[in-house]
Amino acid sequence: MKIIVIPGDGIGPETMSVCTQVLEAISDKLALGISLFPEIAGHESLKKLNATVTPELLAKVKDADGLMLGPMATYDFKDESKGEINPSKFFRKQLDLYANIRPAKTFPNIPTRMNPFDLAVVRENTEGFYSDRNVESGNSEILVTPEVGIALRRITRLCCDRIAKSAFELAMTRKKHVTIVHKANVLRITDGMFIDSCRKVAQDYPEVTVDDFIVDAMMAHVVRSPERFDTIVTTNMFGDILSDLTSELSGSLGLGGSLNAGDQYAMGQAAHGSAPDIAGQDIANPFSLITSASMLLNWLGQKHQLPNYIKASKLIDLCMEQAIAEKETTRDIGGTLGTKETGQRFVARLSSL
Ligand code: NAD
Repeated sequence: MKIIVIPGDGIGPETMSVCTQVLEAISDKLALGISLFPEIAGHESLKKLNATVTPELLAKVKDADGLMLGPMATYDFKDESKGEINPSKFFRKQLDLYANIRPAKTFPNIPTRMNPFDLAVVRENTEGFYSDRNVESGNSEILVTPEVGIALRRITRLCCDRIAKSAFELAMTRKKHVTIVHKANVLRITDGMFIDSCRKVAQDYPEVTVDDFIVDAMMAHVVRSPERFDTIVTTNMFGDILSDLTSELSGSLGLGGSLNAGDQYAMGQAAHGSAPDIAGQDIANPFSLITSASMLLNWLGQKHQLPNYIKASKLIDLCMEQAIAEKETTRDIGGTLGTKETGQRFVARLSSL
């Protein structure tokens, strides 16, 4: 298996370096035969290649089996005509990675104010309020006059149907409960279509319990009692916001792993950004990227029917649970270690499991 590894911006190089070591260790341990290919995107690529991402890189990713993308300083990339392309958008759109799965759960040894919970946000990834992925060329955010702007939100039946199916499939492997999050009281046509699709897909999954919440009320419910949720399906922007909240509620945004999956390709990527406030200080939590790598291995295992890849994913998750239980973690989740040492101890633990 060929996996392309892109460190990214800010804390990316520090955390991706740990993630790479974990992937190498698990490949050795279970004879997975993974080859990692380092590539660049983001600021480093802009400096060297005049573009944050290039068509050549896309071709390499399409030729590989999977991609690990580090966090990107997307806010810095404002002008596509100068090569400043949002790499997350680029890969999600070009590879049609329509399902962004963002799990969040509490661990016994991480202090939180919440009851224990274990949920997953399933976020549509290819349209919605993200104006950079709604139209064939250009952007669906329009400056009408210097003082007037319009942002268009595209919602299509196809994208609603397929994200709903992803959520119900995931729910079947979890607690068989799907919550639809929307704003159909205001966005009657578009979120109306989203709910309608989800309800229709639900008919194929009679074992799954379904409910729905308006997105603003959902914020209160998820803070009040996150334990009542299992699989949450929602549109792009709502899912982005809600999943940052749920990972922080679980203890830290630094735990926020995610997988961007389509029918053909998948990309592991932390839910958070490049965290410039802590970059270069050896304090960033690498667990978000490690979880993302574990999700990628599981996806590869399911896709190619490789039980050892699924086992690898489970071993990495177990190793993380043990590391957290023994406080071999970064400070954001109650440990005392730096990023590097957290990684070294993790790899040693993984090798001895
Ligand atoms: P951020 O997600 O980078 O950081 C938010 C907060 O969480 C910060 O306090 C940060 O220190 C903390 N945090 C994030 N990751 C952490 C980790 N692994 N360990 C410990 N703490 C962690 O959000 P931001 O600062 O608003 O954005 C920075 C840049 O990232 C911007 O350019 C933004 O556009 C971009 N961004 C990219 C993505 C992506 O690549 N998918 C997602 C969100 C933001």
